[in-house]
Parts: sequence; structure tokens; C-alpha cells
Amino acid sequence: MLLLALLPTAMAWGHHTMMSDRALSHEDLAWMDTPVAVQPLEELLAEAGPALSQAIDAHYAWLQQRGSERYRRQGLPGEGATRADFWRATRLNPEASLPLVLRVLPGEQAARHGFAVQPSAASPYLVEKGGLQVRIEVVQAGQEVPARAVFSTFVDEPDWGLDHELWGFSDYGYGEQPYGKPVGESSKAPFHMQFDHENVLTVAFSDAEEGMVTERIDLFMRLSRAAFESGHDYWGLRFAAWAAHYAQDLTQPYHSRAIPGVGFGWYIGYVLSPDKDAVATRMTQIEANRHFVYEDFVATALQRGYLGEDETATVLNGALAGRGEFLTDLSGAQELVDELTAVAARHARAIDAALVASFPSELMDNAEYDVETAPDYDISALLGAVPPEAGAALLAETGQDFSRAGLATRTVLKMVGAREALAP
Ligand SMILES: [Zn+2]
Repeated sequence: MLLLALLPTAMAWGHHTMMSDRALSHEDLAWMDTPVAVQPLEELLAEAGPALSQAIDAHYAWLQQRGSERYRRQGLPGEGATRADFWRATRLNPEASLPLVLRVLPGEQAARHGFAVQPSAASPYLVEKGGLQVRIEVVQAGQEVPARAVFSTFVDEPDWGLDHELWGFSDYGYGEQPYGKPVGESSKAPFHMQFDHENVLTVAFSDAEEGMVTERIDLFMRLSRAAFESGHDYWGLRFAAWAAHYAQDLTQPYHSRAIPGVGFGWYIGYVLSPDKDAVATRMTQIEANRHFVYEDFVATALQRGYLGEDETATVLNGALAGRGEFLTDLSGAQELVDELTAVAARHARAIDAALVASFPSELMDNAEYDVETAPDYDISALLGAVPPEAGAALLAETGQDFSRAGLATRTVLKMVGAREALAP
């Protein structure tokens, strides 16, 4: 078994929707209130076939040019393309439903635009857990809804099944899975975590550098631009939101650095151990617990900010809305990824250490404990018990990640030409 075989993914920033909504609170993004008309995929394919087909071709030409080995070339018919053609061309999971829905933010009145449904109606992967709300409303084709709501809703969609369990689709050419498990939540890991700045020792014992997040961002930015340029603002936003999801993921240090908490001594122990699988499994569980606690901490804080005054949320919201509007001078997906992962990977050890200082060691250093399944795990109670000084340090470190996430989100919108399309 390779070192990272059991790597978890969770949802990265727990709730991308809240994060995106706050990132759009930047003062220069008022144009994201522009209404856009909801449109089913089939209508987009019928109206913008040639533009999308060209975008797909350009994506595969880019893959070829960069020497990627993890693809088999596909195309999209310019005329008469079906939903099945779209899935094959984009190499996503055809079981995803692309529902016409909006997320309802915490504290927001339900059904402002449509009617409320169970989240599972949008995706089986959308479930309420740990006190974090997931509310969904269905909207109608042709209905006008704010650009901001479309973008914030669908920035979450890559976690709704697009990238899950793709390893059996041999036509897609993704090859052998480099990390994560073949089924379940972590089957999508190589599309949501990118370890370009990994410790040489981790690289030596794993396929850590084989992630495909950059490929996703390139594809969805190209589709977004094609949709905007052909006058299909709803899909321009939805594809841009998908691209922004991956960019946000990479600002989460645990998505840019696989096992930040271990030092050289751990690798010596790993190499010398007669039972490497057991050593790797223990360490992966410990890092998974820290990773999940970090995500639950920020998601809980963001939600509290929507439901009332919360000091932690105020700091995080300020970091997301940020002062800087965009990262500048980026020409494509690779430059964006380089810019995000270098910083996040460098920051991973600091976040790891801040978490360890903030939460009890039975939670932070206990391979027998699994945050995902432990019945006594209660993030609200844990947050109430964080020592004030450690909590302040953790918040300051988190603010750094959040300001990068806000910048990354706005940068994707800029790179796809959203402002030109929505605020002419
Ligand atoms: Zn993700």
C-alpha cells in the first residue's frame, strides 16, 4: 500500500457556498447582483454547441501540450450534443444530475426564489452533519435569479458527485488512482487535492504529485468563457463556480500538503518499521482528524456569522471579502494553481501546529479516534473549550488562508470574463 492510499478529502472548506458568498461581499463586486436566467444543460448544448465544442478541443490540446498522461482525448459534437456527450467530453460522472436549484444560506428565508426540497433531491452527497445546515430550493428554467446566488450555489457542485468514483471509466483515461480510496468520498481526492509542493520523502513513498486539480480548473474556465462569450450567463457562472471550487480547495493547506504534521523522524520510523501499512494508517488517521476539525471549525464559525453576531465569523468574513480584489497577471490554470498551492503548502505546518495547540490531544494525536464516525464528537463543545490564546492564534492563521480563498474566488471570475459579461 502506498503512503497516501487512505487519504481523506471531506469537503475541503466544508461549505464552499458560505465562503463564496462572503468572498463576493468585496465592495467592487456589486455587479454580481445582476439577474440571470436559469437554463437547463440541454438548452445550452443546443444554443452554444460550437463554442463549447471548441473549448473542449482547446482543453485537450492543452493537455497534450503539457504532456499529461492521464487522459484519453474526447470531443463534443458542435450540433445536436446530448447530456451523455457532455459527460464523456468533460470526463465527469454521468450520474450527477445538474439540478436547477439554489442554496439557501443560514438565516435566509427559505424559498425566496422557488420551493424548498430535501438536499438529497439535488445530490446524494448533500447531507446535513454536525449542526451545519444544508438547505436547497428548486427554481424553474427561464426564471431570473441573482448571479451571486447562482455562483455561490454551484461553487459547491464539484462535491455533489461530478468527480466521485471515476476510476472504473477506462474510456476517460485517468489511469491508476494515485491516492484516496476507489469508492466513497475520498475517491475524488486526486481531483480536489494537489500536492505540488510535497516533502521529498512523501513523494518517494507515494504518488503524491499525480493530482489533476489543474486540469479541472483549465476545463471549467474554458467552458465558462465559451458560455459567457456566447451570451449564456447562467452557465458562464455555473462553470466559473466549478473552477472556483477547485481553486478554493487548494487554499486549504491540507489539500495542498498531504501530511504536514510529520517531520524527518517520522519517516525514519516509517522506513524502519516492519509494518509500514500500520504506521501509515495511524498517521493518516491523525492528519485526517486535524483536517476535519479544521474544516468543521471554519464552517461552524461561518454559519454562526449568518445566524447572528459572532466575533470569529467577523474576522473570517473580513478576510474573505478582503482588501485585494484579484491576484493579477495570471495567464491560465497552471499559473493560478502555482500561486495558490505554493502559499498553502508553506502554511500547512503553521495551521497544523495551531490546531494541535487549540484542541485536546485525545482528539489531535489519537489514531484510535475517528472524527468522522465518533458518536461523542461535538465541534461546538470543542470550540467552547479552546484556550483563548491558542484560539486567537488559530484564527489569525485561518484568516491568512481565507484571504487567499477570497482572492482566488474573485480571480477566477475575472479570468473567465464574468464582469464584462454581466456588467457591460
Ligand atoms: Zn473539493
